[in-house]
Amino acid sequence: MTLEELDKQYVLQTYARDYTNFVKGVGATLYDDEGNDYIDFASGIAVNSVGHGNERLTNAICEQAKKIIHISNLQVIEPQAKLAERMTKLSGYDMGVFFANSGAEANEGAIKIARKYGETQFEKKRYKVITLEHSFHGRTITTVKATGQESFHTPHFSPYPDGFGYVPTIADIDDAIDDETVAVLLELVQGEGGVQPFDKQEVQQLAAHLKDKKVLLIIDEVQTGVYRTGEFLASNLYEIEPDIITLAKGLGGGVPIGAVMTKHKEVLKAGDHGSTFGGNYLSTAAGLAVLDILSEAYENGRLHETLIYFEQKLQAAAQQHSELFEQEVGLGLMRGLRAKSAEIQGKVLKASMKERLIVLKAGRNTVRFLPSLTITKEEIDEGFRRFETALSSL
Ligand SMILES: *Cc1c(COP(=O)(O)O)cnc(C)c1O
Repeated sequence: MTLEELDKQYVLQTYARDYTNFVKGVGATLYDDEGNDYIDFASGIAVNSVGHGNERLTNAICEQAKKIIHISNLQVIEPQAKLAERMTKLSGYDMGVFFANSGAEANEGAIKIARKYGETQFEKKRYKVITLEHSFHGRTITTVKATGQESFHTPHFSPYPDGFGYVPTIADIDDAIDDETVAVLLELVQGEGGVQPFDKQEVQQLAAHLKDKKVLLIIDEVQTGVYRTGEFLASNLYEIEPDIITLAKGLGGGVPIGAVMTKHKEVLKAGDHGSTFGGNYLSTAAGLAVLDILSEAYENGRLHETLIYFEQKLQAAAQQHSELFEQEVGLGLMRGLRAKSAEIQGKVLKASMKERLIVLKAGRNTVRFLPSLTITKEEIDEGFRRFETALSSL
């Protein structure tokens, strides 16, 4: 049986998969089983934040695996405590951290914190959470309901939990708040929705307004977090102080991890929430190594240079091919080219893969770029050479 046949026979077919068999990665370059190289501008959807085969990360993982991979959360876990400290210090916020295993799970934790806050802090219970259209918050029953895209709320999985409402833009949030609203949940740059950043001033005004109304601000930084936008958190870039922040994708460099950070440290008590795997030795040792590598690149200016360089290359490509793209969108190393149609988006993705360049789609017509944050200039140059060849072929 070929690998494709094996997959099709035994793995549930929930993805429209590509069948290139990658067997090795070095930095932002991937190799398939025939030895062909691919430039990776996708990083496993913003997960491989320090690239493939990163020596510092793999050493940290191997060293930890040889000692202890996992014991339960009924014991104190040294790398977990250290990672929580590190994340809190890098964020600049006075917060506590709960560790989970994915973005959806981190958002579930955030919603639980908000709901308990709404139950205990007000005379009349508040429980409603407002999210935005085109948002994406995960695939569990609750987070899929929190996701502001009707196509995700198919009747197959109903009934969904109550208490979620959607508004088209940030300006519409105020009108949607009632005396049962406990929180607003949003991404600062909508990733899956089309790499759409929100206006900084508008977000700051919203944050101040929610504070006045005692409505919690939850920022879903599952994709924007861990230096993706150039700062440790997009919330840092936007200079706001959220009540709750969720993280996942880039935090473990490929090892599954999710996290909820909140300044409301007293809301959840022993027994209120938990996870068997969350924050175990392996994932938090990986998280510590990732933050060592990336905070260093941030401090020495390399991260900033990389994102400026990538941005320039992308803008040049957008200008060269104005017949295909409307505009360039995004922040930091979370970028997109808005194609003139969904059809063009599809063609660009296909042609790029043919040139052995991995890019992603987002929204209805955006070509998305999420390179590793440690990508080299040479890899960026090579990727854009291939991208140019792909675009010229259309
Ligand atoms: C990817 C993503 C999620 C879901 O994360 P999983 O790890 O797939 O559960 C949630 N929110 C945002 C903004 C994301 O980009």
